[in-house]
Amino acid sequence: MRVPFHGPCLKEHPVSEVPDTDFHGFGRFFLPGPTEVRPEILEAQVSPMFGHRGQAMKDLMRELQVGLKDLFQTERPVLVSTSSATGLMEAAVRNGVRGRMLALVNGAFSGRFAEIGTACGKEVDAFEVPWGQAHDPAEVDRRLSEGRYDAVTVVHSETSTGVLQPLEKLASIVARHDDVLLLVDSVTGLAGAPVLTDAWRLDFVLTGSQKALALPPGLALGVASPALLERAESISDRGVYFDLVSFQKNLEKDQTPNTPALSLLSALKAQLGRIAAEGMEARWQRHRSMAERCWSWVEETSEEIEGLSVLPPRPLRSPTVTCIRLPEGLMGPDVVSGMAKRGYVIGGGYGKLKPTTIRIGHMGDHTMGELNELLTVLEEVLKSLAAPAGTSASAGSVGS
Ligand SMILES: *Cc1c(COP(=O)(O)O)cnc(C)c1O
Repeated sequence: MRVPFHGPCLKEHPVSEVPDTDFHGFGRFFLPGPTEVRPEILEAQVSPMFGHRGQAMKDLMRELQVGLKDLFQTERPVLVSTSSATGLMEAAVRNGVRGRMLALVNGAFSGRFAEIGTACGKEVDAFEVPWGQAHDPAEVDRRLSEGRYDAVTVVHSETSTGVLQPLEKLASIVARHDDVLLLVDSVTGLAGAPVLTDAWRLDFVLTGSQKALALPPGLALGVASPALLERAESISDRGVYFDLVSFQKNLEKDQTPNTPALSLLSALKAQLGRIAAEGMEARWQRHRSMAERCWSWVEETSEEIEGLSVLPPRPLRSPTVTCIRLPEGLMGPDVVSGMAKRGYVIGGGYGKLKPTTIRIGHMGDHTMGELNELLTVLEEVLKSLAAPAGTSASAGSVGS
C-alpha cells in the first residue's frame, strides 16, 4: 500500500510518500499488541485537520458514539482519551479510589494497576494469585467483607498470561458491597470478548486502540458509571489531564477536554464501520474460534513435541491471546526469532515468563485462515528447534 500525500509543502520535499507498509501482506503480525492494522484503516488517517471546537468535531464525535456504545454495550457516553491505555488506568485510580483499593493481581498488567495505585498515593492491598490463574469470586467477597476498601481493580484479559478473569461474577460480588467501585482494564478483552458494561454494572471500564480494536496506538476509551463520576467529584487531587469529570462534561458538548488525536479519530470511525458490519456477536465468536483453534493445535502438536502446553487451564483462557509454555530446553526468544526469519511476528513471553513461553495475539482483524498459516509455520519452527541432537541436518555434520 502506498499512501500519497497532497500537501503543497510536502510536494517540495523529496519524501512525497510514506514508506511501503504492506511489505509482508496482512496476516503475519500476531503480537498481542500492537496488533495488525488493515491498510484501509491506516489510510483513513490521511485526511486534513479540522478544528476540535467546531461543527466537524461535534458531528464526528456524535457519529463515533453510536459505534462506541455498541462496542461497550452501554447507554452511557464513551470517553475518548488521547493517551495509551495506561493513561486511563491512571485515570481509574485517580478518579475512582478515595483511600484504599484491593488490586487483583495475576500477571504483569494487573500488577501495573497496583503500582499505579501506590504511585498515585493510594493505599493498595495486592491480592496476588500465581501467573496463569484467575481470582475466585468467593475469596474476593471475603476480602471485601474484611477490608475497608472503596475500590477494586481487575484486568479482564491478562495479556501477560492469557487468562480471562470471570468478570461478570466478580462484578456481581463487588456490587454487593456498599460504596465499593469496580475498575476494569479490558484492554485485550473489549472488542474480542463480551463486555456488557451496563448489564454487569461496571463502574469504570477502559481499553486501548492497539489491541482487539486493531487500530494504531494512541487512543484510550472508557466508560464511567454515575457512581464513579460522583466519587471523582469528591476527590480534589484527581489532576487535570485524566480528570474524568471534565471528559464527561466535554462529551455533553460532543468534545474532548484537549486537542484529541484527530487522525486516529478518523481511523476509529473507519474501524467502527467495519466492526458494525461484522456485528459484535460475530466478532466475539471469531475470536473464540481462533482461540479454540490455537488451543487444539497446541494439544495436537504436544503429541510430537512433548511439554508444549497452554499456560492457563481451559476454563480460564482468554479468547484474544494465548500464552504457550515451551518444553524444557526450548527457549522463547529462539522461537520468536525463528518465526521472524520466516516473516512472522509473534509475542515473546512477558517478564518472568520470557524464557519459557511465547504468546500469540489472535485478536483484532485476524482470520482463521491467517491463523492456520501461522500455526503451520510455528510447527515447523518448533520441530526444527526441538529436533534431538543428531537428527537435524546441522547436528549431523558436527564433529564428523
Ligand atoms: C497493553 C496493555 C496495557 C497497556 O497499554 P498501553 O496502551 O501500552 O498503555 C494495559 N493493560 C493490558 C491488559 C494490556 O494488554
